[in-house]
Amino acid sequence: MNRISEIKAHKVNKDHNTIIKIGDIQIGEGYFTVIAGPCALESEELAITTAKAVEKAGAKIFRCSLFKPRTSPYSYQGYGIDGVSLLKILHSETDLLLETEILSTDHLDALASEADILRIGSRNMDNYELLKAVGKVNKPVILKRNMSATLEEFLLAAEYILSVGNEKVILCERGIRTFETYTRNTLDILAVPALKELTHLPVIVDPSHSTGKSSLVPAASKAALAAGADGLMIEVHPDPSKSFSDGEQSINIPTFNNLMKELTEIGSVLGKKSFTPFLQSPLAEN
Ligand code: PEP
Ligand code: MN
Repeated sequence: MNRISEIKAHKVNKDHNTIIKIGDIQIGEGYFTVIAGPCALESEELAITTAKAVEKAGAKIFRCSLFKPRTSPYSYQGYGIDGVSLLKILHSETDLLLETEILSTDHLDALASEADILRIGSRNMDNYELLKAVGKVNKPVILKRNMSATLEEFLLAAEYILSVGNEKVILCERGIRTFETYTRNTLDILAVPALKELTHLPVIVDPSHSTGKSSLVPAASKAALAAGADGLMIEVHPDPSKSFSDGEQSINIPTFNNLMKELTEIGSVLGKKSFTPFLQSPLAEN
């Protein structure tokens, strides 16, 4: 790992861990921020219902995918760019921050004008033109690890964003491909503390795509918090059986509510100085 000690993303090249502040929300060391929402936006009504439910449970950021990179071109591809108007509606209906996936530089201006955070999915971790393009806008970026990327490759992909001026990068571990087929991917839980040794950037975990099974999402989420993650991105749907995509790994609202309670308890024990799933916890402040 010698060559990565030279990069801006490396811990040795910054005297403090990066904390990304967006409005009242802070993402990074000492905080725990939950991003929740459906795999993809399906309708205005469902988006608003889901957003209000996850907000009530304590999520601070809504997962608002308008574009879906799907393995099959015949699967639901998402709302498309017209959905930007939906982001405006969600902003007016809730206090949630909105994060959305960007697939193409063609959509950068439109998405950056309404979303609070841009996401680069695992399939685009190596899309260097896209990485450089989001590096030139003043928006936080969630960068998901490619399913076959080493940590060094992951950090060098992040460096494409940092190197052109955007240091607000959030790394997301989303599972890697192994010989195991019971789970959709294998959650590389040790990527969390390993990345924390290597970089000052915030690290979050996606327990949904890393497991592929709603029954395993709570355990993966709690493991991520215990391993030192700074947050989670969870797929939540009011009726997962009717979800247009990834219903089998989406958790319903009661499960999400329960998980948020458990995360709050664990977060307090771990002494997070501010725990954002619920309002600031006085217990955790001490
Ligand atoms: C997603 O988060 O919508 C997604 C497709 O996940 P990934 O890019 O990690 O496969
Ligand atoms: Mn999904």
